[in-house]
Amino acid sequence: MEETTTPVCSAKGCRQAASYAVVWNNPKIHTPEREKIWMACEEHREWLAHFLKARGFLRRVDDL
Ligand SMILES: [Zn+2]
Repeated sequence: MEETTTPVCSAKGCRQAASYAVVWNNPKIHTPEREKIWMACEEHREWLAHFLKARGFLRRVDDL
């Protein structure tokens, strides 16, 4: 865990500080215990979660 740097939102072109960790897994390419994480700012949290949910990849959204 890197604690000295502020996580930045994973949305394309967004440089805002992230407040959420969007946890997902693609069962076609990842083993079940594998967890992929996208960082999300307040503005993009909904968008990223929706994107993953539509594909059945979303697991949960954690507060950072
Ligand atoms: Zn963002």
